[in-house]
Amino acid sequence: MAKLSDLPLRDNLVGKTPYGAPQDPVPVSLNVNENTHELPEAFIADATQALADTLRGVNRSPDREFMELREALARYIGYETTPEHVWAANGSNEVLQQLLQAFGGPGRSVMSFTPTYSMYPLLADSTDTRWIDVPRAEDFTLTPEYVSAQIREHQPSIVILCTPNNPTGTTLSKDVIVAAYDAFDGILIVDEAYQEFDNVNETSVALLPGRHRLVVSRTMSKAFAFAGVRLGYLIADTAVVDALRLVRLPYHLSALTQAAAITAVHHSAAMLSTVDEIRSQRDRLERELARLGYLVHQSGGNFLLVGGFTDADAVFEALRAQGILVRALGIPGHLRITAGTEAETSAVLNAIEALGLSDAT
Ligand code: PMP
Repeated sequence: MAKLSDLPLRDNLVGKTPYGAPQDPVPVSLNVNENTHELPEAFIADATQALADTLRGVNRSPDREFMELREALARYIGYETTPEHVWAANGSNEVLQQLLQAFGGPGRSVMSFTPTYSMYPLLADSTDTRWIDVPRAEDFTLTPEYVSAQIREHQPSIVILCTPNNPTGTTLSKDVIVAAYDAFDGILIVDEAYQEFDNVNETSVALLPGRHRLVVSRTMSKAFAFAGVRLGYLIADTAVVDALRLVRLPYHLSALTQAAAITAVHHSAAMLSTVDEIRSQRDRLERELARLGYLVHQSGGNFLLVGGFTDADAVFEALRAQGILVRALGIPGHLRITAGTEAETSAVLNAIEALGLSDAT
């Protein structure tokens, strides 16, 4: 059997590792920031019907422009968004990939402020776009002055600002986004995968009028409890949508995906009804872990970055052995924990407290 090194792989992929968060079938899975609550039964009933109806037509290709879904998403987004300003793909990862295919590529660059979402450099490599990694301050915050100075210095083709930022939870206020936009002539992507959990900052969709190089990326994988369907979307100027049509594969969104997502958006109030509860479990995790002496970074998402572990990898493995998955991201002393249901939150808190106690004896 041949090995990867026997193949004439593209130079910039040699030695790289694929995205690979563990997918163990454990009882408490808090490692990839999913919404761990059950879906509403009324949605399941309607979606079952919609999928059955759609299956009768799958001998034909799906609507390449997925207009019904874009209409539903535009209504959900608000801010006078029209379907022409909305685009969707199989997860916001694919949305981001299409953006890099259209606006990145050989001779171009994409910049972000790390630690941030681990897929950005992988998407840069796979689209042959140079990755520019700019470190955040020690507390992970970003100021308008720092962001615009770094953008002016590096002159990237694309900047990605993630808010709330994965994995730190840090949110950005409007002045940072506007400063970034004004600092260069490239494409500014605001990744709002966790936006529904942030009840302090307004969405950057509010900043779109008059800013044709600004793109707001969103997903149904988090707050909507829809990670298995793979539906991400963006809101931007219609010219950006025209650019993405040049790189998308024909019929990239299956008829089944479209039907399921349309039904979910129609049920958005019920689908999002667990957001408050998740936020309160996140706040409980924050309080309790701080009480135990851990360093908890303030988060606007459905997860927390927690520092103060003597050996984070050992704690990750000890929790995994008890059927609890959290995320070790290579930030020394830190683990990222998704806020789950009340029972899941209790399980992870109790396990961490017990490990801490056994450390002390
Ligand atoms: N952006 C961020 C910041 C994320 O954390 C994730 C998922 N972990 C994504 C994008 C991609 O999510 P999806 O492809 O499921 O929409």
